Amino acid sequence: MNNRPNTLYLVVPCYNEEEALPHSAQVMREKLNRLMQEGKASPRSKILLVNDGSRDKTWQIIHSLCDKDTVFAGLSFSRNYGHQSAILAGMMAARQHADIAVTIDADLQQDIEALDQFLEKYQAGCEIVYGIRNDRNTDGFFKKLTANAFYGLMHLLGCKVMRNHADYRLLSKKALDALAEYKEVNLFLRGLIPTMGFQSDVVYFDVKEREAGTSKYTFRKMLTLATDGITSMSTRPIQLITILGFLVSVFSFCMIIYCIVDWFHGRNVPGYTTSLVVSLLMGGLTIFSLGIVGEYVGKIYLETKARPRYIVESFIWRDVKSQNSTDNSENSDNFDDIKNTENEEKLHASN
Ligand code: UDP
Ligand code: MG
Repeated sequence: MNNRPNTLYLVVPCYNEEEALPHSAQVMREKLNRLMQEGKASPRSKILLVNDGSRDKTWQIIHSLCDKDTVFAGLSFSRNYGHQSAILAGMMAARQHADIAVTIDADLQQDIEALDQFLEKYQAGCEIVYGIRNDRNTDGFFKKLTANAFYGLMHLLGCKVMRNHADYRLLSKKALDALAEYKEVNLFLRGLIPTMGFQSDVVYFDVKEREAGTSKYTFRKMLTLATDGITSMSTRPIQLITILGFLVSVFSFCMIIYCIVDWFHGRNVPGYTTSLVVSLLMGGLTIFSLGIVGEYVGKIYLETKARPRYIVESFIWRDVKSQNSTDNSENSDNFDDIKNTENEEKLHASN
């Protein structure tokens, strides 16, 4: 039942992916071809490669792919803004032409064959489809540990984050339009998108080893993502500080009573170690609490400045003439003036 419009845009964030991209792009192209032949994706579908300020030859590779084949489109940031911004920019660009956007990593760790299931769920009426990884066997010990700690902490803080869902995800045009309404700078799409509602479903897939190159998620980037995730989804850490402060106050009050009673009984309080431990503990807790509050204040500061979430330096997009009469894209009117020119624009994206 392929009656919903199905112009599909694969949105692929790329950061220093010169080693993986040539092969991945070919695999993605072949998969998209098959989907088009089977009528699951319209011939106007595209692969949108987003260059997140790479320092290697990624953008040159994207440029030459776009030159050779109109199925590829390219978007390049003025600098490295991070994975979340790259997929957001890709989805916002895709929204202009696509009925469906699927975000997928450039290293093909996420099984591209699962796309058929994503599209089936979309055709069955879903506006959002989440890709969930079956296991974490391909992750190293450290990645597994940090991921489990992160999900544990998010759960504790009451954030509804889908376990083992990275950013392999389908969004329909309707969901993309809703996402465009969110203007927040502190971006954590995995937490944000489930809050939008809509009919949704999940697809399970196996994670493979990275095809080529190394992971671009450094420990620092992972830590930033985790902090962004927590601060953008929950204010519970601040509430926990209040509870902690209350408990420490109750404890201090009890200690004061205890000391006064001791004093009346003429007993000396043996105090040096106790005072030192207590003052160090209190100092530590105070600085830690201040740090948490500071993290939120910093986020408010960034939100109020409302700077652009990314700056698009170049955009390459070439229209494709429909070759297949089975194209049932609802928005095909937009493509009536079929042109085959390259639009390389310099845009300053404020969304
Ligand atoms: N990526 C990005 N910007 C960054 C870091 C990563 O666009 O600052 C892209 C990267 O090119 C890849 C995806 O995000 O397509 C996931 O990164 P990676 O595969 O290195 O992460 P891992 O799978 O190791 O968690
Ligand atoms: Mg990867």
